[in-house]
Amino acid sequence: MTSPAQDAFVAAGGIAELGAEAQRARTSYGDGALVVCDQVVRIYAGEGIEVQALQGLDLLIGEGELIAMVGASGSGKSTLMNILAGLDTPTAGRVRVAGLDLGGMNANERLSYRRQQVGFVWQQTSRNLLPYLTAKQNVVTPMRFSGYRRRLRDERAMELLEVLGVAHCANRVPSRMSGGEQQRTAIATALANEPRLLLADEPTGELDSRTAQDVFDALKTANTDLGATVLVVTHDPAVSHQVRRTVAIRDGRTSSETLRHDTADELGNTVREAVEYAVLDRAGRVQLPREMTERHRMRDRVRLRSLDDHIGVWPDRPDSSDRGAGTGDGGAA
Ligand code: ADP
Ligand code: MG
Repeated sequence: MTSPAQDAFVAAGGIAELGAEAQRARTSYGDGALVVCDQVVRIYAGEGIEVQALQGLDLLIGEGELIAMVGASGSGKSTLMNILAGLDTPTAGRVRVAGLDLGGMNANERLSYRRQQVGFVWQQTSRNLLPYLTAKQNVVTPMRFSGYRRRLRDERAMELLEVLGVAHCANRVPSRMSGGEQQRTAIATALANEPRLLLADEPTGELDSRTAQDVFDALKTANTDLGATVLVVTHDPAVSHQVRRTVAIRDGRTSSETLRHDTADELGNTVREAVEYAVLDRAGRVQLPREMTERHRMRDRVRLRSLDDHIGVWPDRPDSSDRGAGTGDGGAA
């Protein structure tokens, strides 16, 4: 007897036999994506205790996307951001950004990746800017290491500060700016070398909601006007509701995604529709939301059945068997 999983495996094998195209699709996960996280594992090994911060995380991000990432504290968000920033390496699995394999780079390649391909903004405003430099000098600094001519550096720094709404801070040091102004200057600095990917780890975590909106607007500008692909970790529902795609992380894995799109209601008004999806990883794993498993008292194992256009999931109890002739819980004692 074959299990549903085996059936699925056989079906996938059958399709692959149809042509080299399908075969290639199975072996080149994430082809064409800007960011490919392929079963990424990160284990922190301390004295006697091991923390599995990432447990086989899969994630694809296309060029030009603006994505919010949400998840409880400790779920692995910052661990992933550090890996994508080139500051840390995965224990296992593969991470590719802009075609570069982040696990296989030497020190020089890593440095050039951090300077050219990726920009980052952290939650602590003080971690983002050099305190003794003005906003303009901060933005210019990364460009000194990448061959921009002096005049061009100054021009570009002023342009970035302008676009992000902080030109008035050009000659101020961070201590003379508000938290929001510092974060917008940090975004300008992160964008100085035209990175393809901009990472922001809870950039609005220390700000009030008005200021947080300004900073988020600056991230949107970075995405739409300056062409950066943006991944922002946030706890703020007001922020995650404004992006088309929100990825949720749970226990070191992507667990669900919410996609939003605009439609028109019967009066012709634009309304934003949100659809939540569970993530199906390449091993076939789906994380069932706790509310659902608790409601149906599912534990340890469930029964699956392939139906016409969907897969059914049943609790492992005699009264919930789908084998009977539809007698409901007639068999229960
Ligand atoms: P998040 O950003 O979602 O709050 P983190 O990625 O910071 O989560 O942490 C994920 C898990 O890894 C947590 O259990 C955390 O305690 C642990 N962790 C993070 N950094 C380290 C470290 N440097 N050494 C040991 N454990 C760590
Ligand atoms: Mg964190």
